[in-house]
Amino acid sequence: MLDAIVIGGGFSGLAAALALHKSYKSFILLEARDRLGGRTHTRRLDDGSYVDIGGQWIGPTQDRMYSLCKEYNVKWYETYNQGRNIIDLNQVIKTYTGLIPKMDVASLINIDLLLKKLDRMARGISVDKPWNNNRAVKWDSISLDVFVRKNCYTKNCYKVVRAGLETVYACEMNEVSLLHALFYIRSGTNLNTLLSIKGGAQQHRIKGGMQALTDRIAETLMHSIRLNRVVKQIVQHDNSVTLIGEGFSYEARRAIVAIPPPLIKAIDFQPSLPLHKSQLLDKMSMGIVGKVFGIYEKPFWRDNGFSGQVVADELSPFQTFFDSSPADGEYGVLLAFCIANRARDFFSKNEASRKQIALNSFVRYFGKEASNPKHYIDHCWADEAWSRGCYAGIYSTGAWTNFRGELSKPFGRIHWAGTETSDIWYGYIEGAVRAGERAANEVVKLI
Ligand SMILES: Cc1cc2nc3c(=O)[nH]c(=O)nc-3n(C[C@H](O)[C@H](O)[C@H](O)COP(=O)(O)OP(=O)(O)OC[C@H]3O[C@@H](n4cnc5c(N)ncnc54)[C@H](O)[C@@H]3O)c2cc1C
Repeated sequence: MLDAIVIGGGFSGLAAALALHKSYKSFILLEARDRLGGRTHTRRLDDGSYVDIGGQWIGPTQDRMYSLCKEYNVKWYETYNQGRNIIDLNQVIKTYTGLIPKMDVASLINIDLLLKKLDRMARGISVDKPWNNNRAVKWDSISLDVFVRKNCYTKNCYKVVRAGLETVYACEMNEVSLLHALFYIRSGTNLNTLLSIKGGAQQHRIKGGMQALTDRIAETLMHSIRLNRVVKQIVQHDNSVTLIGEGFSYEARRAIVAIPPPLIKAIDFQPSLPLHKSQLLDKMSMGIVGKVFGIYEKPFWRDNGFSGQVVADELSPFQTFFDSSPADGEYGVLLAFCIANRARDFFSKNEASRKQIALNSFVRYFGKEASNPKHYIDHCWADEAWSRGCYAGIYSTGAWTNFRGELSKPFGRIHWAGTETSDIWYGYIEGAVRAGERAANEVVKLI
C-alpha cells in the first residue's frame, strides 16, 4: 500500500509531493486537469512569446519560492518599474512618478491615513488564530467595504482605495469580512508589501514564466504524477483511505487534499466531512479575476517614458495595469487586471467585444501604438471548472469567528493543503508551497 496520495497538482500538491519524495515515502499525485500548475499557467504561443495567465509574481519574504527557484536553477528578474505611472480618475488621466498619484491633497492624506489604519489593525492579528483578537467578532461582523466607506472622507479616496484593494483581494470589498482582510494583510506582512512592486509581492517574475518552475519540479516527480484523474470519492477505513474516480481506485495510508475550497465539496467523503468544516466550505467563495494581455513587438510605452502601470476608478473596465514583458524586453506585454464586478461585466461579453473594449482602454493610456498588438489574450479563472475563481477562497463575514481553524484541521487520515490553509502568504503561491510542506510533514510524522 502507498504511504500517501496527494490530490491536486498545483504548487501546494507539488510541494507536498516533493516533501514526501525527500522523506522517501511512497506516494502518487492525482491531478484532474491534463496539466500541472493549477492556478498558475504559462500560455506559450507559437512565436515563442508567453504570458502567465495565472500567478506570476514573487517577492521578498516569500522564502520558499526563492528556495525552490534556486534548487531547480530557475531564474527570476525584476518587474519593470520605471517611468511615469497613470491614474485615471473621473475620466481624467494624469501621470506621475514615484508612489504618490497626482490628485487632490485631501484625498491623498485620507488614503495614507486609511491604509496606515488598516496596517495598524492588521498588526494585532495573529495569523494562526485570527479569531483571538479582542475585536475579532466586531471586525468579522462587517465587510471591508463598511470599514473603508466609514474611513473615506472624499470620493476620490474611496475610488483609489477601492481599485487597489480589489486588486489585492480579487473581489468586491463588500464580499470579504474585515477580519479576513486584516488577516490577509498580516499573512502577507503589510499592505505596502501587498501593493508594491519594489520590496513587495510584485517585485519579481520567473524567467520563462511560472510554468518553468512547475516543469522542473515535475521532472523530479514524473513517475508519481497521474494527470486526468478527477477524484470523486474519498473513503476512509480503519487503516487506510481509498480514492476513487472514473476508472481508478487507489489506496494509501494517508491522503493530502490540495484543491480550492469550493471543489472540496464536490467530492463525496465517506464518512462525511465534519459539520463545522462542511459549513465553513459553504461560506467560502472564490474571488474573480481576469487577466487581459496585449502582446506587442516591443514595450513601446517604455520609450515614451511610461512604466505601463495604471490605476483606474470604476469608470474604466480594468482596475490596474502592469508591464508584464519578459526579462530583456525582447517583446512587450501590457497586462490589465479585470476584477470582481468589472470582471463579471467584461467576461459576460463575447471575445470580439472584449478585445475592442480592451484595446480602446490600452490606446487611451498608451496611444495609437497600442491599437495593434501581435496577440490579444484574456482569461477568466471563474470559468475554469478546476479552479472556480481566484486568487483564493475568501472568508465572508462570520466565517473566521464561527469556524476558526477548521480548514486545515486533519480529518482522520485526510490532511489538508492548498494556499487557503496557510497562515503565511495566504492566497499566494508561497502560501500554497508552505501549506503543502506542512501537510506532508503531518503525514510523514504519522507513517
Ligand atoms: C489570475 C491570477 C493571478 C495570480 N497572481 C498571483 C501572483 O502574482 N503571485 C502569487 O503568489 N499568487 C498569485 N495568484 C494566486 C496563486 O496562483 C494561487 O494562490 C496558487 O497557485 C494556489 O495553489 P494551490 O496549489 O493551493 O491550488 P491550485 O493551484 O488551485 O491547485 C489545485 C489543483 O487541484 C486540482 N483539482 C481540483 N479538484 C480536483 C479533484 N477533484 N481531483 C484531482 N485534482 C483536482 C486542480 O486542477 C488544480 O491543479 C494568482 C492567481 C490567479 C488565478
